[in-house]
Amino acid sequence: MRIRRLKLAGFKSFVDPAELHIHPGLTGVVGPNGCGKSNLLEAIRWVMGEGSARSLRGGAMDDVIFAGTAQRPARDFAEVSLLVDGAGDEGEAEVVRRIERGAGSAYRINGRDVRAKDVSLLFADAATGAHSPALVSQNRIGAVIAARPAERRQMLEEAAGIAGLHVRRRDAEQKLRATEANLSRVDELLGEME
Ligand code: ATP
Repeated sequence: MRIRRLKLAGFKSFVDPAELHIHPGLTGVVGPNGCGKSNLLEAIRWVMGEGSARSLRGGAMDDVIFAGTAQRPARDFAEVSLLVDGAGDEGEAEVVRRIERGAGSAYRINGRDVRAKDVSLLFADAATGAHSPALVSQNRIGAVIAARPAERRQMLEEAAGIAGLHVRRRDAEQKLRATEANLSRVDELLGEME
């Protein structure tokens, strides 16, 4: 999977709509301290489904919305769009996540409303996602070194692209348990009728 374009509006310090085209080869982002370089990486992790506000250097999920400055009022929503190539059956996919202040966030893939799980499966199947080891944020190297074996295994599974299989296995197990419960209920009813 390759990221081709990132669009942001109202996300952290990116109050005005911004669009970044990422061409093949190496791309560097340069700028003075505090200009928002890390916010770009956080936008990528957020649109991929990051659910922890703390890992996005915030206290609450609404903290990703532009909070205002002395010159500009705060915004009520933030939206990030990621255009990617090689997204399974979809080929090219535009993934959008939008958050409204006090109302939570919603996702779209190629214009269709989808669940957070659909977005994380799309990225997990391509061996990437909000927790991909390819996205190395500040302090991440230390965290990898200090990780417990189970956490390290999770990183390896994400890198190998099999993390999505665990989610699907859990879903299948839940369906199996529900079906078993239905069957035993049917048996009980049949027993009562005899
Ligand atoms: P450094 O090189 O020092 O790591 P950086 O270029 O990576 O800096 P970031 O850490 O991405 O910069 O950006 C930090 C800036 O983003 C700060 O000025 C901070 O005030 C601003 N910022 C973060 N969240 C918000 C928000 N919700 N609303 C407005 N501005 C925000």
